[in-house]
Amino acid sequence: MITHATLLVADDERQNRTVLTELLQDDYRIVLAKNGIQALERARENAPDLILLDVLMPEMDGLETIRALKDDAATRDIPVIFISALDSPADEERGLELGAVDYIAKPFHPAIVRVRVRNHLQAVRQRRLLEQLALRDGLTEIPNRRRFEEVYVQEWRRCLRAGSPLSLLVADIDHFKLFNDSRGHAAGDEVLKRIARTIQATLRRAGDFAARYGGEEFAILLPGAVAEGAKAIAEQIREQVERLAIPHAESPVAPYVTISIGGATLVPAIADPPPDFFCSADSHLYDAKRAGRNKVIWG
Ligand code: GH3
Ligand code: MG
Ligand code: MG
Repeated sequence: MITHATLLVADDERQNRTVLTELLQDDYRIVLAKNGIQALERARENAPDLILLDVLMPEMDGLETIRALKDDAATRDIPVIFISALDSPADEERGLELGAVDYIAKPFHPAIVRVRVRNHLQAVRQRRLLEQLALRDGLTEIPNRRRFEEVYVQEWRRCLRAGSPLSLLVADIDHFKLFNDSRGHAAGDEVLKRIARTIQATLRRAGDFAARYGGEEFAILLPGAVAEGAKAIAEQIREQVERLAIPHAESPVAPYVTISIGGATLVPAIADPPPDFFCSADSHLYDAKRAGRNKVIWG
């Protein structure tokens, strides 16, 4: 069972709200709504884990409400159970067609409502767990490339709306093959974990985001950062990695593990990030490699 899961109960009849609250309040946090409009507002504010939605309500009924919920990216994925006095198969079919996960006819049996709520919340928890696994890198436990691609587009568009710059860093460990060859793959894995933690610890602003982009390569987004500020942060990351002082005797660059970073800054002017933005950061990474590694180069 999800502890502290939040349920939104939307029903225009006080009696029904009271019965459902009494039935579920020992296990969940209950948020109430008296009509469809309130249900939409409270769903956005409270991000409930599950919604119990009455069908017959004045002004905005449950069917309209679920359409609006499914139209909004913020509420689209919240499962909805209809609880309705309309109990014909056609009503039930319509509710399920609109995207409800379940349909309970009134008068309901309290024990059955409780069990169905519990089962749907279990499904929610499992789905979230899978989503998390799919978007995180298993070794370093920071977001993976797939998650990066999502956040990249989101942040690009956010900066486009705000008219603010977006800075992108690509970082790569120097002579990491030599490290693996001499110290072993397991020691290499530890280095990747430590560098991932170091990068994350160096990022301070709320929107800053780092992902493991590939084998020994990290991609970092700094929304709102102008080139100068972003370059300073890249320089901090480079320095912090150097300061870990992880011995790397085979490196021709330094006796320690180092990284090279390339970066680019742009004020978005089109809906999607153009391929040459990432390429620009990446090509500056290779400039940094060619210039001797353990360096930051900005475009
Ligand atoms: P450069 O300075 O030019 O980047 O040289 P490099 O040796 O770091 O680059 P190269 O691309 O030749 O080698 C990357 C190495 O990174 C090879 C690979 O074994 C290692 N690597 C990639 N992913 C992992 C991983 O998950 N764990 C470990 N231990 N090593 C990895
Ligand atoms: Mg009603
Ligand atoms: Mg490398």
